Amino acid sequence: MRMMGFGRDDTKETPDVLIPRVDEPGEPVKSLVRIRFENFDRELTYFNDLFDLNEGDRVFVNGKLAGKVGYITSVTTKFRIRLSDYERVIAMAQTPIHGSYAPVMDKMLSYDSVALLPEEFRTWFLPPEEEIKDGDDTIIYGDGYIIPLDDPHQAEGAVPQVFDRALEYCRTGKIGYVSVRDGVGRAYVAGTEWYELEFTIRNNAIQEAYCSCPYAGLCKHLLAVAIMLSVMAGNGKLDLTRDFVLIDTNRFYEMIRHSEQTVTV
Ligand SMILES: [Zn+2]
Repeated sequence: MRMMGFGRDDTKETPDVLIPRVDEPGEPVKSLVRIRFENFDRELTYFNDLFDLNEGDRVFVNGKLAGKVGYITSVTTKFRIRLSDYERVIAMAQTPIHGSYAPVMDKMLSYDSVALLPEEFRTWFLPPEEEIKDGDDTIIYGDGYIIPLDDPHQAEGAVPQVFDRALEYCRTGKIGYVSVRDGVGRAYVAGTEWYELEFTIRNNAIQEAYCSCPYAGLCKHLLAVAIMLSVMAGNGKLDLTRDFVLIDTNRFYEMIRHSEQTVTV
């Protein structure tokens, strides 16, 4: 197959980054919190009774700023409010990065069973699945795609232009997260928004592959993940027969900084 290089120079041996376990979050504490939202220049006040919130926590709210990432700038437990006057904090980013990670290209790789779960990565960028909306929200699966990992070019339905876009996605760090456990894969790829990918790995191929994006065909998100895994495995940097987690290095350090966990190198 054609070898493709991208990302940082990983030719030299780099020691693992070991992340200690941190305490689980505390019991919920009722509070009134000020929140600053990304790309929004005003702070707003919200009611919280679901979490033990602290300054700097990354959250999602309901109301008109639903779906936007917000950061807690202050917390008070001294208040008397009328509930109907306030929107609420509905979700908080989880930052339990545990275990041992090693850099591979522009990703951090872990084979540890305690490594970050897809559900945990999701909380950083996506609000919780909305409650049942009007109309039928059922997700229906058709046949999934199959992408051979020894040569993703050969995937049925791989359009050259889409393949080139997928390569670009690999080079520009759009793949935020990939995990495989017992052959079942999950991935998050950032495009116009974050897309969720599901697949299985069998016989050195990505199979039953689905992406949440609206593209009707084999999309650049699925191809990008396939190309990345193919390159890493082809270079002997990734053992596809084991369970693993890959996190984009920039996202990884953003999470660690945010949660003030200690990194031992
Ligand atoms: Zn897609």
